[in-house]
Amino acid sequence: MLRATLIRKNLATGSSVRPWLTDLEAARAQLDWEALRRELGAGDGQHLNIGQLATDRQPATRTALRVVGAQGGARSVSFGELSASTNRFAHALRGLGLQPGDGLFVLCPRGEPLFTAVLGTLKAGLVAAPLFTAFGPEPLATRLSIARPKALVTTRTLYRRRIEPMRARLGFLQHMIVIDDDEADEASTPAPLEPSALGLPPGTIDWSTLLAQAPASPVTVRTRAQDPALIHFTSGTTGTPKAALHVHEAALMHWATARWALDLHPEDIFWCTADPGWVTGTSYGILAPLLHGVTSVVDEGEFDALRWLAMLQRERVSVWYTAPTALRMLMKAGTALVRAHPCPALRLVASVGEPLNPEVVWWGLEAFGLPVHDNWWQTETGGIMVANTLAADIKPGSMGRALPGVEAAIVRRSGERLEVIDEPGVEGELALRVPWPSMFRGYLGQEERYEKCFSQGWYLSGDLARRDADGCYWFVGRADDVIKSAGHLIGPFEVESALMEHPAVAEAAVIGKPDALVGETVKAFVVLRDGFAADTSLQAQLLAHARTRLGPAVAPKEIAVVASLPHTRSGKVMRRLLRARELGLPEGDTSTLEGA
Ligand code: ATP
Ligand code: MG
Repeated sequence: MLRATLIRKNLATGSSVRPWLTDLEAARAQLDWEALRRELGAGDGQHLNIGQLATDRQPATRTALRVVGAQGGARSVSFGELSASTNRFAHALRGLGLQPGDGLFVLCPRGEPLFTAVLGTLKAGLVAAPLFTAFGPEPLATRLSIARPKALVTTRTLYRRRIEPMRARLGFLQHMIVIDDDEADEASTPAPLEPSALGLPPGTIDWSTLLAQAPASPVTVRTRAQDPALIHFTSGTTGTPKAALHVHEAALMHWATARWALDLHPEDIFWCTADPGWVTGTSYGILAPLLHGVTSVVDEGEFDALRWLAMLQRERVSVWYTAPTALRMLMKAGTALVRAHPCPALRLVASVGEPLNPEVVWWGLEAFGLPVHDNWWQTETGGIMVANTLAADIKPGSMGRALPGVEAAIVRRSGERLEVIDEPGVEGELALRVPWPSMFRGYLGQEERYEKCFSQGWYLSGDLARRDADGCYWFVGRADDVIKSAGHLIGPFEVESALMEHPAVAEAAVIGKPDALVGETVKAFVVLRDGFAADTSLQAQLLAHARTRLGPAVAPKEIAVVASLPHTRSGKVMRRLLRARELGLPEGDTSTLEGA
């Protein structure tokens, strides 16, 4: 379907909220990190603590969290309560003899204790790492052994299922703090609870007792801006996940980018759907809204189209930060379902993590009356770098422009040399000028790999993109996923987006298959929308559609209709796995695969 190329924004109409950013270039020119630091109240430039900034600066009665249970009931947690509980936990950690810089992992389902554990850990000056609870024993053991934390907070259920069986391998853990949860809290398949399993597992510390015995008085630990604060694991889309280390100063970027890219205002109700086991879920699910004094929705349940729509409506969410996969799933469920849940409070929908097909941006406009604002960043960047902001027109399919304080470029590596490509429209690697406050400061245990990410004052992202004459960035593909066919470089995203324009296609993934003649040929895998049947005539239609849209050199030669695509646990399509399966190669590290 042919559409206009631009969604025009008229900042004077629509929502009554005046956006923070109305002129991106003026904001870039006037950027003053020191002034922003003062506005955030982030100390003297030498010292700051993310945990304190996030919990201690708001009126005590203001609502920090709206925790919504899997069955729909909701509870509010005030900033005052969060400040007190995190103080208690920070004091308790110091009481256990833990020192600033020690690592503490948090393996807890989304909910209030997860916030208390992560933020209290930061307040105590320890290094926090939230872990995704759906990981099985191996992915957990791998991540724990990379960082060798001194302490772990988990629930009794998760302890029994995941930690206890491998406890012998976790000798580095000096303290295991266990939250006495209700077995029924954990998702789908609760195992029967044996009476002997009730009560505290031996050699562990009870969370509630620990908190009750500690004072709620303010914590006085002074962390330096450059002290380590958080460990985030990458999604493992291209291989074994890496552990990226971030420092307290990252708070400045979380706060500023939440203003520029997500337009957070104190009166907003914000919902970030990412799990805190991923960087988005911590930077923007836990930290950024609290730094702004904004109420966030915390969903204890899992994705379900109907539940999510009801959540947006009932909680009167005004700013929603989600992922392309979730939007595609909603799209698959149908526009009518969305329209049956009008959300008049919703004023901004943003997305990150994967390429956002233009079709989804247009669909947002049709279904929610709002376009989807794509933005780009990585675990390594710690915060949003490139975004479609409220200030600018949207070119569907583009990731937007570099935010203030971010200098992005398209570069080409040749051996040791790096060439910055100024000419618009040329494909190359997306690079960022170093440093910025939330830049990662290391890959744990992989110093050489970290060093290799930098060249001549640039951080090299490993993603291919191009920038147009207006300064908008267009994602081409990950360097590893780009297909070379008959002398052309083909970005999978372009092909996938063209396929998604067909009304029968809900999701698409494209890979290169080795070919003796042309190097690689393009093969597509598609998932159909509900109501469409896979038959030869549909396949022929799809091939013809792709040829018309893309031309014969770029269009797939083969299209396979599949029931589903392999996704990482964080929802990304794993093209490398499709390729390995297609070619009968070993599948490599699949620990982050959904269902693994
Ligand atoms: P790994 O590094 O372990 O292979 P990963 O790169 O998927 O996993 P993340 O840091 O979670 O781990 O994801 C960042 C990557 O996600 C980016 O490098 C990019 O490839 C992709 N990405 C993020 N946002 C966008 C976007 N808006 N458009 C296209 N791709 C995006
Ligand atoms: Mg990556």
